[in-house]
Amino acid sequence: TFRALRVHKTDAGQETRFEDLTAADLMDGDVVVRVEFSTVNFKDGLALTGRSPVVRVWPLIPGIDFAGEVESSSHPEFKAGDKVVLNGWGVGETHHGGYAQKARVKGDWLVKLPAGLTTEQAMAIGTAGYTAMLCVMGLEKGGVTPDKGEVVVTGAAGGVGSVAVALLAGLGYRVVASTGRKDTEGDYLRGLGAADLIDRNELSGPGRPLARERWAGAVDAVGSHTLANVLSQTRYGGVVTACGLAQGMDLPASVAPFILRGVTLMGVDSVMRPKADRAAAWGRLARELDLDKLDAMTSKAALGDLPRLAGEILDGKVRGRMVIDVNG
Ligand code: NAP
Repeated sequence: TFRALRVHKTDAGQETRFEDLTAADLMDGDVVVRVEFSTVNFKDGLALTGRSPVVRVWPLIPGIDFAGEVESSSHPEFKAGDKVVLNGWGVGETHHGGYAQKARVKGDWLVKLPAGLTTEQAMAIGTAGYTAMLCVMGLEKGGVTPDKGEVVVTGAAGGVGSVAVALLAGLGYRVVASTGRKDTEGDYLRGLGAADLIDRNELSGPGRPLARERWAGAVDAVGSHTLANVLSQTRYGGVVTACGLAQGMDLPASVAPFILRGVTLMGVDSVMRPKADRAAAWGRLARELDLDKLDAMTSKAALGDLPRLAGEILDGKVRGRMVIDVNG
């Protein structure tokens, strides 16, 4: 048997149970993985609390990402002993996920752990950090180089934000971190490489269609008015990568930044991202992310802590990244 956290549908909504399961409880797949670490992403918070309908199959083992070692495989690319990482593909939504000591998944969903990263470091990065890298790659694709000017990262003290700040600063960008935790996390964000901080209140209310041009680029994990204001402040030809909805799913914006300043709004999805992009992103994370900074943004917890952490991440109280030791 192995230990797992499962959510069950109840009359009142849903219920979290810690259970001992067997391989027969797992879903179809051609690779069995001994999970070593998982994490808590914003979406996991939604799944664990039921605040949004992330879980689509009941009962379900949540956890949208995990890293571990292949136990057995009939997939040609993987063999027992391989270290692997998984992000998305509906895992933790429609397929059993990372909050268990064992997982059975499609080998097509797995990425081989790049050299230089442990499974624990891979989950310190997690889906949040892999998404941050996809955003950085989006900025580069749009021609936003460090010499173009300042880039802003919203939701900076969160998971996506922290990794984005560290990556962009490491690549030589002048990074401005937008956060609601300037007083408590200012030193933390400067330590990750932020050159300057702004209070997220400056961005979170209704704004004008066009404002003073400030940003050459942006990584936005927040959505809603914040994304609208970032767009209105983006410089001529700039690129805004949008990956999150921590403030809201709405986008109360105008077309003015697009038609008057040629601004690009680039959507970033990590869940269904093609395999080649995943491998590229993970390879770059292994080479380019400062592991001391990764350490500084990571806390560790166990399966039993997940119900509490789910509420905390949705309330914006988790700093950086939270690794779950599923065997701890
Ligand atoms: P997280 O650690 O909770 O970070 C979110 C941060 O947003 C918080 O730490 C907080 O930063 C800020 N925030 C929270 N509530 C806010 C509000 N009401 N108004 C303004 N700012 C607020 O979550 P995460 O795991 O990094 O994920 C961030 C977002 O990206 C989520 O919406 C998640 O669903 C999304 N995401 C999307 C993808 C994708 O594939 N597109 C992948 C991963 C994550 P401060 O305290 O610094 O203000």
